Amino acid sequence: MTRTIQQGADELRAAMSGTVLVAGERGYDEARRVLNADIDRYPAVVARCASATDVAAAVRYARAEGREIAVRGGAHSMSGQSTVDDGLVIDLSGMREVTVDPEARQVRVQGGALLSDMNAATQAHGLAVPAGIVGHTGVSGLTLGGGMGWLTRSCGLSIDNLLGAEVVLADGRIVQTSPAEHPDLCWALRGGGGNFGVVTEFRFRCHEVGPMIDFALFFWGLDQGAEAWRCMREVSATLPRGLTPILGAINAPPAPFVPEANQLQPGYAMMIAGFGSPEQHAAAVEQVRAQCPPLVDLVTPMPFVALSEMFDEANAWGQYYYEKSVYVAEVTDEVIAAITEQAPAKTSPLSIALLYRLDESYCDVGEEDTAFSGGRTPRWATFLVANTLDAASLPAERAWVRAFYEALRPLSLDDTAYVNAMTEDEPDRVRASYGPAKYARLAAIKAEYDPDNAFHRNINIR
Ligand code: FAD
Repeated sequence: MTRTIQQGADELRAAMSGTVLVAGERGYDEARRVLNADIDRYPAVVARCASATDVAAAVRYARAEGREIAVRGGAHSMSGQSTVDDGLVIDLSGMREVTVDPEARQVRVQGGALLSDMNAATQAHGLAVPAGIVGHTGVSGLTLGGGMGWLTRSCGLSIDNLLGAEVVLADGRIVQTSPAEHPDLCWALRGGGGNFGVVTEFRFRCHEVGPMIDFALFFWGLDQGAEAWRCMREVSATLPRGLTPILGAINAPPAPFVPEANQLQPGYAMMIAGFGSPEQHAAAVEQVRAQCPPLVDLVTPMPFVALSEMFDEANAWGQYYYEKSVYVAEVTDEVIAAITEQAPAKTSPLSIALLYRLDESYCDVGEEDTAFSGGRTPRWATFLVANTLDAASLPAERAWVRAFYEALRPLSLDDTAYVNAMTEDEPDRVRASYGPAKYARLAAIKAEYDPDNAFHRNINIR
């Protein structure tokens, strides 16, 4: 007799304390949605887990029924890896607890927590874990790929601060990992993505940050492009470890500090977040203003939590996204020429190109210490992101991202990229980004922990 989806779901329901949803049930349509509205998939079953034991039951159910597994943390995967047609979604959104140990300066974070959950809990003690720049991103997917943002220069990547994790393996076993327990698995989780199991809890080291930080945003029009980028490059090169620059091609925000005529106009921006002395931040601000007076600037102290949620609205759920990325070693004149040629062609004010500086603390970690997809030499990670309010506008913006990528590719570090910013299935670029030795080590660990590739909806290690 053929089992129906409903029969299998009922059995899973009986084995779980969380919720199990199938098509037609209340909550199913909401549960199948992900950040990117361009992704519209219909899983057979969504298992909204409440514990590691629930996750183990869901993994066993999917393996027994031969269902494809998708694991969902914050659902930010732009290619929709955290959902799947006809398969099982292991949805961790009900597991968002964050427990801070202020004495030990450590934090335990459940697999469904968002960066905003982690930031709120740690900031209550004046602490933070380095992570990304959008608050509704999932801690899980971001960390498993690396995790870069405002604190990378001063405190490293998220994985550089990962102390251990609880993981549900492909056979349903629940294991603890740390440099002392399953050290190979612990190493692989630090950059190797969701290939090795479902992480139900992370343990991070925290740093003293904020609660107030110094922020500056400078904006130049398209006509000032080359001059502005040369200035951004020169200032960035002089910044001490406590100041983080992010550079970009953006549209001026429709905010009160921007004159009406400039609001939403395309141009170039430099942001500098200061986590060290206010004097150092003020000196950097003066340097930019003197060297290349911007059209508009905003210089203000702000809570670290506000900085970490500044881009949440622009990257809201229900918009249409596509992304590509490369590393460049420096913002050379050729890179500036490519940016200033490509950037003006975008048509959506929400689409952006951002450059994150990876140096200082990022470079203090050894090449082989983590499974990160990128060398530890100084570099810029580019994020070329199409972002539109409606489906009809996406194809033009996708073409813009692809053309931008093709222009930067010959100037990049061997066409390598941060795996968390790869939207397409690009196995050759994935191998190149890890490098042959690291990829082989990851493949050996994959063969040990997930020989059947049950966890393959990710940047897959083959
Ligand atoms: P999900 O879609 O839930 O998961 C992504 C991948 O991880 C999937 O393959 C999924 O199966 C797997 N996965 C998720 N949870 C688990 C788990 N618990 N165990 C095992 N596997 C799991 N990255 C940065 O480093 N810095 C940034 O500043 C940054 N900003 C971003 C801003 C936006 C708007 C977006 C869309 C992305 C951004 N990213 C950034 C990229 C981000 O790191 C990746 O998209 C990441 O995969 C998101 O994780 P998630 O949990 O939200 O996504």
